[in-house]
Amino acid sequence: MSLALSGIGVSRGVAIGKAHIILRGSIEVLESAIPVHLIEDEIARFLKAVDSARMQLEATQERIPASTGVDIAAFIETHLLMLDDATLVATPVDLIREHHCNAEWALKLQRDAVVSVFEQMDDAYLRTRRDDIDHVINRIQRILLDSSQGEEQGENIVPENTIVLAYDLTPAETVMFEHQGIRAFATECGGPLSHTAILARSMQIPAMVGTHGLQRYIRDGETIILDGLQGVLIAGADEQTLDYYRERQEQEFQRQIELAKFADTPAVTSDGTPVRLMANIELPEDIDAVSRTSANGVGLYRTEFLFMNRPEPPDEEEQYDCYVSVIEALKGKPLTIRTLDMGADKQADGISGSSNPALGLRAIRLCLKNRAQFRPQLRAILRASAHGPVRLMIPMLSNTRELHQVLSLINDTKIALQREALAFAPDVQIGGMIEVPAAALTAADFASHLDFLSIGTNDLIQYTLAIDRVDDEVNYLFDPLHPAVLRLIKMTIDAGKAAGIPVAMCGEMAGDPRYTRLLLGMGLNEFSMHHTALPEVKSVIHSSSIEALVPLVQELLNNTRTGRIPERVDSLNQNTL
Ligand code: PEP
Ligand code: MG
Repeated sequence: MSLALSGIGVSRGVAIGKAHIILRGSIEVLESAIPVHLIEDEIARFLKAVDSARMQLEATQERIPASTGVDIAAFIETHLLMLDDATLVATPVDLIREHHCNAEWALKLQRDAVVSVFEQMDDAYLRTRRDDIDHVINRIQRILLDSSQGEEQGENIVPENTIVLAYDLTPAETVMFEHQGIRAFATECGGPLSHTAILARSMQIPAMVGTHGLQRYIRDGETIILDGLQGVLIAGADEQTLDYYRERQEQEFQRQIELAKFADTPAVTSDGTPVRLMANIELPEDIDAVSRTSANGVGLYRTEFLFMNRPEPPDEEEQYDCYVSVIEALKGKPLTIRTLDMGADKQADGISGSSNPALGLRAIRLCLKNRAQFRPQLRAILRASAHGPVRLMIPMLSNTRELHQVLSLINDTKIALQREALAFAPDVQIGGMIEVPAAALTAADFASHLDFLSIGTNDLIQYTLAIDRVDDEVNYLFDPLHPAVLRLIKMTIDAGKAAGIPVAMCGEMAGDPRYTRLLLGMGLNEFSMHHTALPEVKSVIHSSSIEALVPLVQELLNNTRTGRIPERVDSLNQNTL
């Protein structure tokens, strides 16, 4: 009998393959008293669990294919070292003796103590190490709770060609699993704007999120179908259903061939207005795919991915080499390097330092707090600017005070580089992301100090509509066409125009062809998106006339009260312009 689960399709494409289930999620630990005469037995049970955790990790280490990046090995090595650390082993033993409690509880007490120390640290990188602590502790807890199912295969290693099913996946895991050759993934949590979903689109892996019941209804190893466009997952499909989806795969393949025809054509509207189409990248290797498109450059390089899946953050030299390699691959086209946007959903899974991380210390706030980590990045970006056109972009600005702090740090960095006789482009362009409603409302103030603005609609929508972008429960409220969102976008575009600086958009909305005409009519002429979206957006641009769109869109924006915006955008898309 077949079974279909629905979720939110976040990356189109159909995958057929075997399910690989990753059990994760929170572990509930209860305290129980251990009689004095059984204390030593409890300690022995704990130490045996630590040994088993070590054996699991070593087995995982052996199974890493030679072709896999070294990062995964380093990841596992860090966890093995932690298992040798007295903090995670000797102290829980003392706690069992002292409190006469069960091993799980002792481990939880120690975890809470260690994590609270980490959270007080000023160093953002070290703070993210608490995720490693949690991974290691959870591994021991699962063994203790006799729920090691799934762990035996190594939680960071998945078999090639499988469809990964998980409660949740972090962006770091998504990158790692893609390297290991998974076909698709589905998670129980998440929203279409989560960084995990964005990565899936840019890596062209079919994916869905918010798929409730995954772990309950699907068996590990059974053949399943995942439709990342419709957000449907089917198990136990009959031949007829399988044939239907194989045909869909073929159609998708043909569609890619059709769209590839636009690859080498310039992005110009039917009435002759050139539009800048840029690509978003997460990793330096993405640049290979981008250089095969006719993108005008990179409009958003999310540098935080360079900091993930590794025990140590990259130093200035490594960052510099990496940025230079991307600049060289772009052969004179501009590279927009966004400074670190860590925090919120972009840290390894586990607890966050803030009870509300999206509103907490993330992005530029974190960098300004942790200048020891920020300075090497600024130095690396500035030094890289000597090798080609670089634009430096600051994420999540919410007030101009922050902007002035960053500008003065950049200035100090330039002076220091000059003193050290290190080359950089003195006129490197500095831009700011408008992704907080407060920044959009005061975009004119930002525009007067910057060389360009870029609208980050993923966060702008999240913060304007008060919906957590990774929470599937509130996904139904996600609405790029909400009048408030449209007004903030329009205000930003107008503020940039008035100040005579370019305004781009690099959120997911820019890569969604349903909104291309609307945005063109609002005056946007620089779009940055994952490279896979470029051909389709370009095909819409070709069939659109700015002259015809501007009055239609203005009329639409003047009449948002009717609440019929989606229908009106649909008819805008259907008209011949
Ligand atoms: C955005 O918020 O729209 C954006 C492009 O940044 P990120 O998705 O990395 O937060
Ligand atoms: Mg953002």
